[in-house]
Amino acid sequence: MSDSQRSEQLLARAREVIPGGVNSPVRAFRAVGGTPRFIASARGCRLTDVDGRHYIDYVRSWGPMILGHGRLEVVEAIREAVERGTSFGAPTEREVRLAEKIRAMVPSIEKVRLVNSGTEATMSALRLARAYTGRPMIVKFDGCYHGHGDSLLVRAGSGVATLGLPDSPGVPAPLAELTLSLPFNDPEALTAAFESYPDRVAAVICEPVPGNMGVVVPRNGFLARVIELAERAGALVIFDEVMTGFRLAAGGAQELFGLKPRLTCLGKIVGGGLPLAAFGGRGDIMDLVAPEGPVYQAGTLSGNPAAVAAGLRTLELIEADSPYAALEKSTCELCEGLAEAARAAEVPIRIERCGSMFTVFFADAEVRDFATAKTSDTRRFAAYFSAMLRRGIYLAPSQFEACFVSTAHTDAALRETVDAAGRSFQDLRSGLAR
Ligand code: PLP
Repeated sequence: MSDSQRSEQLLARAREVIPGGVNSPVRAFRAVGGTPRFIASARGCRLTDVDGRHYIDYVRSWGPMILGHGRLEVVEAIREAVERGTSFGAPTEREVRLAEKIRAMVPSIEKVRLVNSGTEATMSALRLARAYTGRPMIVKFDGCYHGHGDSLLVRAGSGVATLGLPDSPGVPAPLAELTLSLPFNDPEALTAAFESYPDRVAAVICEPVPGNMGVVVPRNGFLARVIELAERAGALVIFDEVMTGFRLAAGGAQELFGLKPRLTCLGKIVGGGLPLAAFGGRGDIMDLVAPEGPVYQAGTLSGNPAAVAAGLRTLELIEADSPYAALEKSTCELCEGLAEAARAAEVPIRIERCGSMFTVFFADAEVRDFATAKTSDTRRFAAYFSAMLRRGIYLAPSQFEACFVSTAHTDAALRETVDAAGRSFQDLRSGLAR
């Protein structure tokens, strides 16, 4: 009998009523094969599926669960909020406290608007940048994913890269033509773009540490150069910190690298595992947003009380615990263990890591942008993924995604992971895993 029988049954039912059986494409395991595990519950660093199997979780709901699943204080904050009412469509005190907390933690944010998803945050930030500058064009970087807004589905990472999709049908060509996508870590390409389109570019949007082509680390002052070039050209820099915000430091990548973008998008951790995201930045720019200004942006469930409670409690715990040094250490040790296990099995890999996010690439050469990320052997990744899953390690089911470590990953869980990786790399070498 299969060890994922119940998941298989649920997937068959789900396919009848949900496209591909999932509510977000990468969950479908299309790039790695096999059946997506339907999850029954989660606690700490572990997931339990509907077949009763347990996994050490490195997906962390794609980033938010930095403090572990079911962290008691967060659950308690949600319970307390829900008991007072699940949605009012009117302002609440906690929204003000969350906005103040975000401003205190993220250096460049003077004013912030809460929304429901990272996609909404980036879409709104782009509209605002276009309105502020009066310019139509957007620059992004190949392999960066900024949600599924029309302007941003151009050479995008994450699920778009995983499924090998061209730019999405349904995006009007005249809109896609206003988005230029350039190689990451290549300031010359950005210089050339500004020369080719003087006074046309409203914004440069980037994941400061991309996680959606797998993790790629910015090289040699690249981000500082992006800011310098954009400011010289009169374009706004938008850091999409949906993944890196509160992940790499309390103030996100911008704190880590000592930089100040004009606008910032937040998501994932800021909602503590519930649907909440945000965009914010310099006060005079944010004051263009309705009702203060003419740039329309709204949401029935924006600032939802349960989501705000989860987010606020999560940020308070992050401030109190200051988990970043410990996360850096444990992730570093984990990556060293994985590298050593791969060396012992003579399987060539490259690990790209920043703080508690990392990707194991099955590539020989340095990974510095989307083109080099794509040199990774995705069939080997699929075999590694399946071998790890069999051993109870739940990785993102795509080469072009990040793994996340949380404060709930114990030393024993990390050792178990390295041990499973050692045996999985041996399988790869001996051809047992395909
Ligand atoms: N931006 C980045 C950097 C992301 O990683 C994601 C999602 O993975 C998004 C935006 C979109 O966020 P959401 O899935 O909440 O719409």
